[in-house]
Amino acid sequence: MLYSKLFGKTKKKVSQQFEAKSHELLTKAGFIDQVASGIFNFLTLGKKVLTKIENIIKEEMNALGAQEILMPSLHPKTLWQQTNRWDTVDVLFKTESQLGQEYAFAPTHEETVTPLAKKFIKSYKDLPLALYHITAKFRDEPRPKSGILRGREFGMKDLYSFHENKDDLKNFYQKVIDAYLKIFKRCGLSNIKITEASGGSFTKKFSHEFNVLTPAGEVDLLYCQKCSFAQNEEINQLKPGDSCPKCKGVLKKDRAIEVGNIFDLGTRFSEAFDLTYTDKKGKKQYPFMGCYGIGTTRLLGAIVEVSNDEKGIIWPFDISPYQVHLLGLDLKDKKVKNMSYNVYHQLLNHGIEILFDDREEVSAGEKFADADLIGIPIRLVISQKTGKKIEFKKRFEKTPLIIDFSELISKI
Ligand SMILES: [Zn+2]
Repeated sequence: MLYSKLFGKTKKKVSQQFEAKSHELLTKAGFIDQVASGIFNFLTLGKKVLTKIENIIKEEMNALGAQEILMPSLHPKTLWQQTNRWDTVDVLFKTESQLGQEYAFAPTHEETVTPLAKKFIKSYKDLPLALYHITAKFRDEPRPKSGILRGREFGMKDLYSFHENKDDLKNFYQKVIDAYLKIFKRCGLSNIKITEASGGSFTKKFSHEFNVLTPAGEVDLLYCQKCSFAQNEEINQLKPGDSCPKCKGVLKKDRAIEVGNIFDLGTRFSEAFDLTYTDKKGKKQYPFMGCYGIGTTRLLGAIVEVSNDEKGIIWPFDISPYQVHLLGLDLKDKKVKNMSYNVYHQLLNHGIEILFDDREEVSAGEKFADADLIGIPIRLVISQKTGKKIEFKKRFEKTPLIIDFSELISKI
């Protein structure tokens, strides 16, 4: 991609006040654009990152044996009345049609996935079943803040599983925990803290939350510095400095943001929709259900919260919008220009995702600042000074190397 053609450019000055670092950096670097409070456009760079995150999630969901489907965002009121959630979920985004029919913009999909599964689950042979989708979700937030960390409309992957019995659910539930840790690690987050908590208005059963430590977080978390153990501040007897009940590491307190959660739904929803299956003895039973969410846009924001410096974003390699950012300096010099375009095309031919700053009127300093702000992991520079060689620098390193083109591919 030529930077001159890229839709969405870096912004030097933004008049807005930002509550979260990720909101500021993603806006200034040209990844997102705010439509209204809690509602965002994703520009080319932002969409590329989001797609990469979604693809990682899909790979790990498919590896669990889950199947991808697509369910609607607009849910008739009757479905939510059937589960007694129309009036109890305080953030439910409600709307009315011209004919006076009421709908919810869904924040979660038990109300559609359960009646859907009911059409296909008949016997124990149809179980276990795991279905997921990635769609926009809606929350009627009174005061959305912190950019894409807490929006009115946001991206989410939600997975639902159906099982013959509680043991089978527990077994699958544990596999999802492992899959989630893999997903977060592949997205560059290895320091995930897992809390056990009650599920609030969603369910009375137990649940687990996956948290990223960041000052922009919304909850106080007491966590172990050695293992993944964590507890929400307000519900526990432990305090900072105590030893971890799991590994004897020292507990510390910090702000955190939740990027994923999983719930044991029991038979609450299968009972509400009278979803049954016939067991091996010919008896009707309610399947046990689990639900498993990851906020995709929130995850993107959380990654930026923990992966940045004073100059800008530092993308983990696997989710960066491009792998390489090539800066052509002194492009009015024909030799430099030819070599820059030559390197650009050769890297493209090798299947490398590359952003080429091809602007001729922009100073070197401005190009370096933009590259640091956008945060692509590898920066290459070709200029009068580098001659026939190429300057190579990783985003998180201070000192560049000067290398030959022949070394370049293996280094990337
Ligand atoms: Zn521990």
